[in-house]
Amino acid sequence: MNDAAGPTLAKRLEGLPAPATIEMARRARELKAQGYEVISLALGEPDFATPPAAIEAAHEAALAGKTKYPPVDGTPELKAAITRKFKRENGLEFSGDELLVCNGGKQVIFNAFMASINPGDEVVVPAPYWVSYPLIARMFGGVPVHPVCDEADGFSLKPERLAAAMTPRTKWLVLNFPNNPTGGLCSRENLEGIADVLRKYPDVWILSDEIYEHLVFDGNRFTSFAAIAPDLRDRILTMNGVAKAYAMTGWRVGYAGGPKRLIAAMRAVQSNATSGVCTVAQAAAAAALDGPPDLIHDMVATYERRRNLMVSALRDIPGLSCAMPAGAFYVYPGIGAFLGRKTSSGRVLETDTDFALAFLDEAHVATVPGSAFGMAPYLRLSCATSDEALTEACARLKRFIASLV
Ligand code: PLP
Repeated sequence: MNDAAGPTLAKRLEGLPAPATIEMARRARELKAQGYEVISLALGEPDFATPPAAIEAAHEAALAGKTKYPPVDGTPELKAAITRKFKRENGLEFSGDELLVCNGGKQVIFNAFMASINPGDEVVVPAPYWVSYPLIARMFGGVPVHPVCDEADGFSLKPERLAAAMTPRTKWLVLNFPNNPTGGLCSRENLEGIADVLRKYPDVWILSDEIYEHLVFDGNRFTSFAAIAPDLRDRILTMNGVAKAYAMTGWRVGYAGGPKRLIAAMRAVQSNATSGVCTVAQAAAAAALDGPPDLIHDMVATYERRRNLMVSALRDIPGLSCAMPAGAFYVYPGIGAFLGRKTSSGRVLETDTDFALAFLDEAHVATVPGSAFGMAPYLRLSCATSDEALTEACARLKRFIASLV
């Protein structure tokens, strides 16, 4: 088949890079097929099971005939559970027309950006970032702007860095703390400083992606941005989902609470794209949100133990820098000391992508290079796998680095 010929594709897709994760996953599969024991630290997916109560609720909903088209904005049962969740866990009150249930957190972002971005609008996404924010913004002609969150600051956003990134063209600020890929958190003081900056820009929307809110360690407490800056609530879209907190990535349920005007526009986008979310998945999500908190507590304790295990093993590798992540389930070590070196088979490591590919090919551990998240040279390592696999992966990294010439 000649793939280059035929009808043209939309200009909005031109220049959208394929995520580095896809190439890593392809190579990892190839190595596995060749019989190698590949350890994957590349996935952003909990290795726990969906809570049984959520599965039972989905089953019951299907048996009860809840299998017809749902309302675009979510079933009344799930919206009621979300209202309770926001109030109980975040101290936020939303009425029904301030809520929208989407196909995963990703669709919240897609709907919000499609509903608001005009070509040339700037979208401030602090780096390092989850790659979907800038990619979705670019689909609608948005121009991503990336203030940097330094490793020395625990990868949190300093208000002065934000202030320097804001312009009269800024349309959105994306906040994602605890952060994917670094696990960085923003202190209350930093968030208050960020709110002060935003008060000078009344035409800017704020997306607070709180999908990792429960995954905070060392006794830290998470606070929603809308609770810190209630005076900005008519511009804050608070998004969340069941994927990370309840290990429900495949159920595809995300949700958002925000101003009526924005939610109505997002609902209109969704109505013409996917309509309402799968009814049984919504029933499962409602049961998860209303479920006892101990499942989350157990999960957080496990992630914290694994983080400690990973960080102490990584800090034992000469030349590697490794900040202590305050939350989420990633570790983001710096590998700058090894660039310019060669592997024992003669491959030159010029970038973190070279490093990640060589580490996969030669030591059979899949990771994601920091350049995929807008801050190099780093590696993102996911802790969402067993202690044994994490220990073995760190041992392989130590040997791989020791073998560099
Ligand atoms: N936000 C962040 C920061 C994420 O890392 C992810 C998934 O990796 C999402 C949102 C999307 O989650 P969902 O699976 O609900 O679409």
